[in-house]
Amino acid sequence: MPIVPGQSGPRPAWYRRLPPALRRVAAASDRVPTLPLNAGPSLRALVARLPSALATGRPGPVQVVAQELAEGICRALGVPPVVVRVERRRPPLHGGELQGLYEATDRRSRPRVTVWMLTAKRGQVVAYRTFLRTLLHELCHHLDYDLLRLRDSLHTQGFYQRESSLFHALDAGRVDAPTSIEG
Ligand SMILES: [Zn+2]
Repeated sequence: MPIVPGQSGPRPAWYRRLPPALRRVAAASDRVPTLPLNAGPSLRALVARLPSALATGRPGPVQVVAQELAEGICRALGVPPVVVRVERRRPPLHGGELQGLYEATDRRSRPRVTVWMLTAKRGQVVAYRTFLRTLLHELCHHLDYDLLRLRDSLHTQGFYQRESSLFHALDAGRVDAPTSIEG
């Protein structure tokens, strides 16, 4: 399912096909359009480091920034942190969602977010905004469970609004990024 920032309008048809229990989860998800993230200077500085980390083309530096960013956001919102893994190219078996994956593990280990930094098709480094949006998207799945205490994390309108609210709270639109090629 593509990321549609700030999606609004009539509810998509799949809402109506949900079983009643999940429809209630979707309704609860839709009731929360923003997350109360107060991004201080350190979080903003991390966001500003992202374009140059991506420009190295290496997962190591990107993972360091992405992990710190995720930890900072989790700390600010009072939820347990996630482990962030940045890898080069998405393996074909993970054909699903864009460039990221959220895995809730068992209770003993931390949930894991994987973000791929190269496009699936042409193997080029993804644009800064795409990368950050993907990271925030996967974090929103984590926050659905650990902050909002939803039983399931669905791609509702509220979900995409929360994802956008994090992007704006980080002032991420103001970060200058060299134009990257996506494909
Ligand atoms: Zn998702």
